[in-house]
This record gives sequence, C-alpha cells and structure tokens, in this order.
Amino acid sequence: MRPLKFDNRFLNTFPDIATRVHATHVKNPEMLIWSEEAAALIGLDKPKDPHGIEAQIFAGNQLVDGMQPYATRYGGHQFGTWAGQLGDGRALILGESINGRHERLEVQLKGAGQTPYSRRGDGRAVLRSSLREFLCSEAMFHLGVPTTRALCCVLTGDKVERDMFYDGHPRLEPGAITTRVATTFLRFGHFQVLAADRNVEQLKQLVTYTINTYYPELMGDRVKWFKELCRRTAALVVEWMRVGFVHGVMNTDNLSVLGLTIDYGPYGLMDIYDPDWTPNTTDEQNRRYRFGQQAAVALWNLQRMADALALLTVDQGENHTQWLREGLEYYADVYNAGYVEMMARKIGLPTASVDLLTKLDNGMRAAEIDMTMFFRQMAEVRESEPTMTTKQALGVLALAFYKWPQPANNTDPLELWLKDYLEECKRDTRPVTEIVKDMNAVNPYFILRNYLVQEALDGLEKGDRKRLDQIWRALRTPYEINSDTRALYKKMPDWARTRAGCSALSCSS
Ligand code: AMP
Ligand code: MG
Repeated sequence: MRPLKFDNRFLNTFPDIATRVHATHVKNPEMLIWSEEAAALIGLDKPKDPHGIEAQIFAGNQLVDGMQPYATRYGGHQFGTWAGQLGDGRALILGESINGRHERLEVQLKGAGQTPYSRRGDGRAVLRSSLREFLCSEAMFHLGVPTTRALCCVLTGDKVERDMFYDGHPRLEPGAITTRVATTFLRFGHFQVLAADRNVEQLKQLVTYTINTYYPELMGDRVKWFKELCRRTAALVVEWMRVGFVHGVMNTDNLSVLGLTIDYGPYGLMDIYDPDWTPNTTDEQNRRYRFGQQAAVALWNLQRMADALALLTVDQGENHTQWLREGLEYYADVYNAGYVEMMARKIGLPTASVDLLTKLDNGMRAAEIDMTMFFRQMAEVRESEPTMTTKQALGVLALAFYKWPQPANNTDPLELWLKDYLEECKRDTRPVTEIVKDMNAVNPYFILRNYLVQEALDGLEKGDRKRLDQIWRALRTPYEINSDTRALYKKMPDWARTRAGCSALSCSS
C-alpha cells in the first residue's frame, strides 16, 4: 500500500474536543466494497486482496505511520430538544491526511468500537446500515450533491446484537465498518457543546480555526463566514429537494459546518412523490424531518448554531446578534431563489411562478407518482411540446404512475397542471435540444432506492453480489442511460411498500 501523510492538526489544536482513542480489535476483516474515486482523494490504490492490509487498517486492527486515532466531542438538538453532550460514540478519526494536492482530509472509521462518548452504545455498526451509508455517500457524490465520501466498507467477522424495531426481538447481525472521508466532520454540535460549556475561549478558537482552515478565502471574517454557512446549507437542501433525498435525522449534530450531507442513517430517496414522507420510523408520529419540511428544519438548526455563536459577541451590547440575523435572512433568500430555479430547470422552463409550482406539487401528490421517473419522462414531454396534448403528455408519463389509469374526468390536478405547463412552454424561445439536455442533467435516471439496497443485502446473505455490483455501477452514472441504469429504470415494486428497510427504517444501526 502507498504511504499516507498525516498532520493531525485538529487533534493537536483542540485537546478539549478531540480525545485519543483506540479501535477495538475485530476478528476477521474482509473488504466488502471499495470506492476507487474516494481512494483517489487520499492517494490509495485498489486493494489486491480482500483480506489484505487495507482490510486490517480500515477495520481498525492496524495503524500506519502518522495515524493517531481520536474521537471528538459534540452536542446537539435531537428532534427539537437539547440533548446535551453526544460526541463520536462509534466513529473515530484515524488521522487527518494531506494528499498530493496539499488537501486536508479526515479519514474516519464508523463502527470501530467504543469511545468515551459511546454512552450506553456498543460503538459498533451492522452491515445493513454500514452498506447503506457507503452506497449513499457515493451515490450523492455522483448525483452532484455536496456530501462526505465513503472509501470502503469492511466486514468485521464479528456479530453485533440489534433490536431493529426496539420491540424486544434482538438478533445477531454481521458487523461492518465504513470508512468515511471528508475535509472535516465538524458539525453544528461541536460549536454548540462549547457554548453550552460557556467555554468562550475555545469556541472563539474553533470558529477562527474553522474559517482559516476550511474557508481561507474569507480571510478570517466571521460575519462573512456565518453568511456563507447559511448559503451552503440552503444550497444543500435545494439539492436534496432536487433528487428527492430525505435525510431522516436532521438533528444539529448531523449538520455539517461545511454544508455537506453527513451521517446517512434512516435516510431515503423518494419513490412515490410525497412531501410528507419520512423513511425514519422513529419520526413517524411528528414527521419533523419529512421531505417537505427540510428547508424549515435546516433554518431552525442554523438558528441554534447562531444561538451558540452569539456568545462570541455577547459583550457588544444590544445589537450583538445583528451579524447572525443577517445570515439567517440570507438563508431564506438563497433557498427560495435556489428552489424556484432548480424546479424550473427540472421542468425545462427558464423560470417558474409559485402558482405553477404549487399546482405541480398538488398534481404530483394526487397522482401517486414516482418522482424520479416523472421528471425524467418530462424531458420527452418538453421535447414534443409543440404538438402535444395533455392526454398525450399523460401517456408519456404513464410509466411513472403507481396507479394508472387516472380518472378521465378532466379534473385531474396533474392534467390541469400539464395544460398550464404546455402553455408556458410556448413562451420559451430557447432551443429545445439544449433545454432537454439541461433537464437530463438535473433529473437523474437512476437513484439509490431503499428497496434496491435491501435486495443487495438479501443477495449478500445468500453469497450473491450481483445486485450489489449492479447498483454500485449504476449509482456512479446516475444521469446516463446504459445497460445497468436501464435495467433499474422502474418503480418500487409493491412488496417493498411494507417491507422493513425499504420504505421504513429504524434508527437502530
Ligand atoms: P446518529 O443518530 O447515528 O447520528 O447518532 C447519534 C448519537 O448516538 C451520536 O453521538 C452517535 O455517536 C451515538 N451512537 C449511535 N449509535 C451508537 C452505537 N452503536 N454506539 C455508541 N454510540 C452510538
Ligand atoms: Mg450522527
């Protein structure tokens, strides 16, 4: 294996937040899956042997020169309530690597055993959740959504006990560890825990460090920094809305200070379009983290971040939070403009009125329609628009309907929307080939549906990796039509509606 270079600056700068830890030895590490694209970030080649040195290292059994594993301390608001100190309970950073382009990347194991922050947890992770995190990290990257990355997923050879639905039926499951890579895994919660401690000095130091290290272009300006964080978070949620991603657990400890998608737990990419949908069974009652509420929740989380940062300027009198208020207002502007622009691109118009988008939302809700296939099929509607009737357009969209045919009474909300839409297209003078090309660049042809990951897991249990290998190829070309993506261009099957792990997921991982 090629040598890696580490400088571990964070560990050496923040002894109060970073604690040295050791991974717990595991029995028989075996490399299950490896991302060459993520490996290239830190300069690693593909392992030759699934039981080789990479499996040992990324299971936590072996260190290489320069690695100084540590866990970090953070707090967070969980489901709207301050939960106090949390921290890396089952994640540890092997080290901060510096690649050939002098870029800093944290290399983190998730599921490598207990840390001082494990509370009552075992520090472990099971295969189903590790593979889900691995695959979706890379899927989101290839979709063009800001995200932490995944290098590999290693089977540990140990069994881990989990009660999947917290209903008194624990069972032993295969253990696994995912290696994640990101510029930093710092979250809002790191800032919040220092504010909760009233540790103003360390908070100030963390803010300065964050700006200088990760936002050097801002020249140490915290006003600009908070505004930029708000902008990135808004842009991130717009991207989630574009591809139908529901994070599922948007607690403040799961929001990245770089505006990345972080911590893939009970997430889901939507099959049937439904803004009220959440894949997280723990959130089934209140649906705090449902698809349609993600923008509002991100703002709420930024407000909690602002509460923590307010401590820095508390001695500056009455208007000391003005800089934070500006950032929060900016969030709403960026989100609203970004959302409309994104939706207009999805339907191939130069812009879209709130009225048109509201009617589209109503139409899609009423129709029980597959979000991904609907927008992808829309390119065909857009292309043939000059000669197309609403009935013909519905015919093109038929593939995406879970319930078909629709009532033929001319009051179908989606049909009414199509009428307005086809009128609107006539005002667009741009060349249609370019419009369609742009639509196909923002509307994925393949998304990582929960049921597909479940099928991959079912296959693995029988020693068959065909489905896993197929979705692993497909997720790396999500906008392309090729033999893998074409074979998977279909709606969620009926059986997946009720199967655990397909439409509903628990936090137990
Ligand atoms: P999550 O919902 O995965 O973002 O985790 C929330 C908190 O619980 C974090 O502080 C995790 O480190 C911790 N946690 C989750 N699962 C475990 C586990 N099996 N062992 C120890 N800590 C855990
Ligand atoms: Mg988390």
